[in-house]
Amino acid sequence: MIADLHLHSHHSDGVLAPTALMRLVATQGVTLAALTDHDTVRGCTEAAAACLDLGIGFVPGVEITANWQGQELHVLGLGIDPASEALITHLSMVRQLRHERLTEIGRRLERKKQLVVSEAIEELCSNHDSPTRLHLAKLLVERSLAKDIAHAFDHWLGRGQPGYAPAQWPSLESTVKAIRAAGGQPVLAHPHRYKISAGALRRLLAEFCSVGGLGMEVSVGGMGSNDFDRLTHLARTNGLAGSTGSDFHDPGIPWNPPGRFAKLPPDLEHVAVRLQR
Ligand code: AMP
Ligand code: MN
Ligand code: MN
Ligand code: MN
Repeated sequence: MIADLHLHSHHSDGVLAPTALMRLVATQGVTLAALTDHDTVRGCTEAAAACLDLGIGFVPGVEITANWQGQELHVLGLGIDPASEALITHLSMVRQLRHERLTEIGRRLERKKQLVVSEAIEELCSNHDSPTRLHLAKLLVERSLAKDIAHAFDHWLGRGQPGYAPAQWPSLESTVKAIRAAGGQPVLAHPHRYKISAGALRRLLAEFCSVGGLGMEVSVGGMGSNDFDRLTHLARTNGLAGSTGSDFHDPGIPWNPPGRFAKLPPDLEHVAVRLQR
């Protein structure tokens, strides 16, 4: 089994439509795939039909933005019911915050750097269900205001940069509860990417477990072996199931294809096993 439980379509900041995404996923040898767009489940129906056609397993999912002690986090909801009222209400609130944050980013870029982007941001927000900073970074590159996406984050959009605007995302607890209410498994996404100390990560995992978290990503596309070892250890000590996923967004980034990540060690329970139970 190759379970890629972290994939983005054009319903958030991915490039491909759900059907094209799942076709690519299947060619990479993936046997179980989850669609996990940022704060929207809009692509799940199409992705489910595509996977049925392709003869691979499908897990409806979402990657939800949350706040823990001022740190922005991502929590995957895997095996959710996309029609859950509690989840739909939660996600609408997060997307509203996305719109407000991008509008504020536009205001800051104009005020501090005389960049005229507010109109383009308004358009971006009306054209996308779940607009992200990646959309805006691409716009800055198109307008030759940044040489590439990394530069756009480093000089305009990242923390401490002129276009940085914080957002009051819902708490970790309310996020986990919304996923559980939708019958899903809350899985902490890419814990190695958060810029927090080892002690803070231990506290985060303890709190995640205490509010109902069930799994954590331990094998993510592009991850180094030190992080993999550290995270598998943390999953074991916290009694969390492990998850695997590429966090694929874009076929133009060929070094991070769907399905490419290390296998879990055999003693660690895979979230996929729980999902198929
Ligand atoms: P948002 O969720 O609106 O903050 O947008 C963040 C998205 O932008 C992430 O999900 C990534 O896909 C992408 N991203 C964030 N930071 C970077 C970066 N430094 N370089 C490239 N992509 C990034
Ligand atoms: Mn993304
Ligand atoms: Mn993420
Ligand atoms: Mn992601």
